[in-house]
Amino acid sequence: SPEILSDIEIATSVRPESILDVAEKRLGLTPDVLIPYGHHIAKLNIRAFDNPVTELKGKLVLVTAMTPTPAGEGKTTTCIGLSDGLNRLGINASACIREPSLGPCFGMKGGAAGGGRSQAIPMADLNLHFTGDFHAVTAAHNLLASLVDNHLHWGNKVGLDPRRISWRRVVDLNDRALRNLIIGLGGAAHGIPRESGFDITMASEVMAVLCLVTSIDELQQRLGDIIIGVNYDGLPVTVRDLGADGAMTVVLKDAVMPNLIQSLEHNPVWVHGGPFGHIAHGCNSVIATQLALTFSDVVVTEAGFGADLGAEKFIDIKCRQSGLRPHAIVLVCTLRALKMQGGVVKESVALPDSKHLKKGLANLAKHITNIQQFGITPIVAINRHPGDLETELETVKTFVSKHNTHAVIADNWRDGGEGAEALALSVKTAVDGKAPDVEMLYHDDIAVENKIHTLATKLYGAKAVEFSIQAKKQLAEIQRAGFTTLPVCIAKTPYSFSVDPKQLGAPIGHVLTVRELRLLAGAGFIVVICGDVMTMPGLPRRPAAMNFSIDNNGNIKGLF
Ligand code: ADP
Ligand code: MG
Repeated sequence: SPEILSDIEIATSVRPESILDVAEKRLGLTPDVLIPYGHHIAKLNIRAFDNPVTELKGKLVLVTAMTPTPAGEGKTTTCIGLSDGLNRLGINASACIREPSLGPCFGMKGGAAGGGRSQAIPMADLNLHFTGDFHAVTAAHNLLASLVDNHLHWGNKVGLDPRRISWRRVVDLNDRALRNLIIGLGGAAHGIPRESGFDITMASEVMAVLCLVTSIDELQQRLGDIIIGVNYDGLPVTVRDLGADGAMTVVLKDAVMPNLIQSLEHNPVWVHGGPFGHIAHGCNSVIATQLALTFSDVVVTEAGFGADLGAEKFIDIKCRQSGLRPHAIVLVCTLRALKMQGGVVKESVALPDSKHLKKGLANLAKHITNIQQFGITPIVAINRHPGDLETELETVKTFVSKHNTHAVIADNWRDGGEGAEALALSVKTAVDGKAPDVEMLYHDDIAVENKIHTLATKLYGAKAVEFSIQAKKQLAEIQRAGFTTLPVCIAKTPYSFSVDPKQLGAPIGHVLTVRELRLLAGAGFIVVICGDVMTMPGLPRRPAAMNFSIDNNGNIKGLF
């Protein structure tokens, strides 16, 4: 068999077109509305358009997945491949994805610019600092943290209780040693000692806010609404109370503008924002999605991890807040993820094994019926890997056809957009049809614990929800502060429907253990931390960082 090239080898073998040409040819955008960052990356100047955007011409397609393996099942790859495939059919399509985080890049997962022949380029820039958006988010977040501690130092006029400040610091790296800290040590000149810590930038409320606003005014408004802790009477103190909203918005003035790059086939790829799918809301920015929908007829987007997290948050948070609605949903699966869900050992996921494959189909079925609860029947895309057996692919197709839908094999990782034409045809039929009546899984006005209970029982197969003592207290505080109409954002392991990554397939009868609740009043949702998931990841024993190098010609090794 021919040698398999790495993602970065493929990505650097294609010469990108000028981004101004891509924008003009594919989107009808003239250079005056773009802010070029070099030759191949540009930001769209949102000041050149009405925002919030009022008229969306395009139709939105969401790419989600079954429960993934730690390597990822190919949502980004499918998202870009599907957009390329649609463009090959003569449809004016673009892809809308999130910006990669440095944490997983140097940890386990590798880059997040797609894979094989379906990638966004320039791949290395995208995976590294790109246009600096995440540094800006990190800076805005930590600017606020510094203002909080400075406020305590200079007399604490608003009466913030230093023991109950919820605003932590962030960094875009996996660094477990920073999770829990005592800051302000060293005496009176060095601030007020208190307990705090770091989260990864992808879990920052600033990131969530950036990804949900539709204008600079709204950005400042929502940053002002962020609650940083409580005063000695137990009442919430906001960013506005400290007067930090203006400065934070200024730091984010460019980060709020969507970035445009291209696929290997020179079709537009919008890349903007990057909240993680398991500990945050997992979607690219509303502003990028809306603008993409004004310049393309079909926009393909993705949301983090499996459909239990990504698709649910996409609909219950992003769509609920923005009014966006998907016209179709593509559910990605792979033989290896199915086998993993069937209980095969990690080292053997790529080997033929129809027994574990069949067992794992329960996981796919649960994701299909879950998505149907939102009023949309997903099209299943089987992302073919080298060496996948024809008979096993047929098994999946037959199984899916018994669930009121159909499966299409996607070969775009190997063949680019051409390999996604069959999938693109299926998606075209769906978007040409009547728009589905998308339903949120719960109403705004039911109690917060009922929202969590609804997700646990209807999507995860749990029989009950258990709140820790801390979570119960936080629930009461959220009620007292009057934020019960907000949606919830579940933080849990992406590797199982339950909180235990070892419970595979479609487990039922488990208990969703809620450890902690965080009210994100600016982002407009309540983060519900379940099981032992961490908002600051750690690195594995042998991090991907060990494989990186660069030579005098700038050739990078180690980015997958
Ligand atoms: P996700 O977005 O679901 O996390 P990605 O699209 O980022 O997944 O893909 C994860 C990794 O798997 C990437 O390194 C990509 O190159 C690789 N990959 C995706 N599809 C295939 C395939 N069909 N064959 C081999 N490798 C693939
Ligand atoms: Mg991805």
